[in-house]
Amino acid sequence: MIFVSASGSFEYLPSAPELVSDKVNPEEIRRDVSPALKSHGADLIRARVAELRLEEKKVTLDTGEILDYDYLAVGIGARPWMPPGGLPSSATTTYRVDDTMRFRQLLSKASGGTVLVVGAGLTGVEVAGEVVDLSERLGAGFRVTIVEKLERAAPCMGNARAGELAKFFLESRGVGFILGKGVERVEEGKAILEGGEELEFEAAAWTAGVVPPEPVERLPRKYKRGRFMAVDEHMRVIGAQGAYAAGDCVHLEVGGKWAAKMAEEAMFQGETIAENIWRDLKGLPPRIHKIRFSVQSPRCLVSLGAGRAVLAYGKRIALLGRFPYVVKKRIERKFMAELDELLGH
Ligand SMILES: Cc1cc2nc3c(=O)[nH]c(=O)nc-3n(C[C@H](O)[C@H](O)[C@H](O)COP(=O)(O)OP(=O)(O)OC[C@H]3O[C@@H](n4cnc5c(N)ncnc54)[C@H](O)[C@@H]3O)c2cc1C
Repeated sequence: MIFVSASGSFEYLPSAPELVSDKVNPEEIRRDVSPALKSHGADLIRARVAELRLEEKKVTLDTGEILDYDYLAVGIGARPWMPPGGLPSSATTTYRVDDTMRFRQLLSKASGGTVLVVGAGLTGVEVAGEVVDLSERLGAGFRVTIVEKLERAAPCMGNARAGELAKFFLESRGVGFILGKGVERVEEGKAILEGGEELEFEAAAWTAGVVPPEPVERLPRKYKRGRFMAVDEHMRVIGAQGAYAAGDCVHLEVGGKWAAKMAEEAMFQGETIAENIWRDLKGLPPRIHKIRFSVQSPRCLVSLGAGRAVLAYGKRIALLGRFPYVVKKRIERKFMAELDELLGH
């Protein structure tokens, strides 16, 4: 087995926004998986996949190396959508541990002015809540403003009530919302909104959605549904021999349900791939993947700082309070403990 990864590490992204307020540190939510891979007999290649050549059953790495495969499992996630012209040094994405720590650094240098968050999705509202926590703890006096293109906050797509509760709570903590206006571009210390309005800031977090990673962007259309990799109910890339894909890089539809781009769903999809490769080797029929987290029936926990979170369950149920936050933290601790056991830490 060959495992290709530039970093050789795993990051628990649901807790990354809490890096902003120092509630967690990078070591708590990041693990080096390379020793465990080696002890399981896998060869780790530290590189990035540049091209998926599914017709030829080959993968090209950014080092120029070309790998052949009998079975391929693609789990390269998604990447943040960036504005035209990119971001200046006073703004950053907050998608993984390193870029979120960059944002934390920007806040350290800021002197109590406006902190701009672009996007009121899950990451945007969570980051905003953590900036308020940090500001309160340090007495920094940040004014947090969220700019969102939609007319509403949407931390859990499909459950409008969760968005209303998140907005209500963040507003009660002093966060300002500008809704129904996209940010057209970001210059040093200044965002230009649709319609020309300008907003000055000291530090900005760009959390305006995700796009597929480059190797998926470059795939021929026949392997995609929308912009993401099309996989069937067995997690096989449609039209490709021996290739499977899971997580944020895929579009998966089973029995009228669309898989949500969420951590647990990605993990379950990974398990289905492992089992189906094993079944294929044994000559057994593949298992159908059961979608647990779907777009049609959303389930998510959105932390908002101050020890509170919103629980969204289905299209209508949403609950704001301490309990959802306690549950979210418990899931983090349980997950990291299980991962440590698996890695032999
Ligand atoms: C800030 C934030 C908060 C979130 N909160 C929640 C939450 O509360 N609950 C929830 O369920 N989900 C949450 N999510 C979503 C969840 O984290 C993702 O759905 C999940 O991580 C997807 O897993 P994945 O394996 O597909 O991708 P990822 O976890 O993104 O892993 C992909 C890996 O592939 C690597 N990679 C990328 N491109 C290449 C390449 N070309 N070559 C080699 N390696 C590559 C990346 O570096 C990364 O290590 C959150 C996401 C973010 C960003």
